[in-house]
Amino acid sequence: MHYFEYKNGSMHAEEVPVADLAREYGTPLYVYSASTLRRHFKAFDSAFNGLEHLTCFSVKANSNISVLRMMAELGGGMDIVSGGELFRALKAGVPGNKIVYSGVGKKDHEIREALAADILMFNVESMQELSRINDIALDMGRVARISFRINPDVDPKTHPYISTGMKKNKFGLDIEHSRKAYDLALELPGIDPVGMDCHIGSQLTSIEPFMETLEKLLRFYNELEEKGVHIRYLDLGGGLGITYDQEEPPHPEEFGKALTDALNGLPLTLILEPGRVIAGNMGILVTEVQYLKSTPSKNFVIVDAAMNDLVRPALYQSYHGIGEVEPRGRACKVYDVVGPICETSDFLARDRELPETEQGELLAVYSAGAYGFTMASNYNSRPRPAEVMVDGEKVSVIRKRETYQDLVALEL
Ligand SMILES: *Cc1c(COP(=O)(O)O)cnc(C)c1O
Repeated sequence: MHYFEYKNGSMHAEEVPVADLAREYGTPLYVYSASTLRRHFKAFDSAFNGLEHLTCFSVKANSNISVLRMMAELGGGMDIVSGGELFRALKAGVPGNKIVYSGVGKKDHEIREALAADILMFNVESMQELSRINDIALDMGRVARISFRINPDVDPKTHPYISTGMKKNKFGLDIEHSRKAYDLALELPGIDPVGMDCHIGSQLTSIEPFMETLEKLLRFYNELEEKGVHIRYLDLGGGLGITYDQEEPPHPEEFGKALTDALNGLPLTLILEPGRVIAGNMGILVTEVQYLKSTPSKNFVIVDAAMNDLVRPALYQSYHGIGEVEPRGRACKVYDVVGPICETSDFLARDRELPETEQGELLAVYSAGAYGFTMASNYNSRPRPAEVMVDGEKVSVIRKRETYQDLVALEL
């Protein structure tokens, strides 16, 4: 569900015509709906009301400070994967004790910064990382709360690039190694093992892989209890999928009910790290048609948004819905929607049936609120788009469009 709807024949973001936004702020343009964002957060978070829980928004899905601040105001914590994301989360007013830190490659200074912010816990992904965190904590006169990220060897049945909990993936520790890891953690004076963590992948469209993972983790949890390791936090990661095309992911309520049934009565605080399911459908990327061109095999619509602005189609062959901002009721035609970048992978849609379009008209690429702007680059020296947040009738620029000067600002 989202608030990008046609009213009086033109696409609106909540109460504001998208064409007005494009005129005012130019294209390509990221447009977000605040009501959609809030609604998605609340729907997700309230699904776990039967359990002690903390919803930690995955900052890498959409890291704009205004977005993070909205999440924080609703009581959300953050899942971070870098010092830069920690900086953003703190700047957005998220308290340290609601931040969990994942990732396989945490550097010294990042660990130091996170300890200084007294984050809730580090999700540790290797034995060497554990020992580094211990050393730094002791040096700072602190004790680091940690969980181990368990790799449960479960197939999330999603795109291979976003599968993270299989034996062959770089993430986490398998259960065998985790046993030794908890034993060692108990002995390290700078470490307090308080949690157990996993994140098996992204854009999951069924709850079975989550439940299979949970079963493995709970078996391990019981084993740890018997050994005298008392886990207080169970972090199940993110990964719940959304509808881009025809997918039918479970509603958060269904997910919440399944987890609540499985965890009821256990003395655990559940941590969740949703990204896409909260931010994905709260954003569109608005683009203007520049040229039309037909070859003997294809009809191309060349637009002013490209793979540098939204890389998901190029990187994962992902589907994004595309709609006319001002529908004109023309017959459909099959198009490739492509950008100006000098790469054949630079497409937003391939072999897509769309109403015939003309130069200067506007198209909206749906489901661009997660892994859209955060994955944008300056490839081909293209300044990154502006981001605007619409809330009812109110429009706020939450990130200015980059300029040519910005492109070279750090070059000497
Ligand atoms: C990317 C990521 C998430 C969020 O994944 P979504 O599919 O967007 O929910 C959560 N936790 C970790 C560790 C991640 O890397």
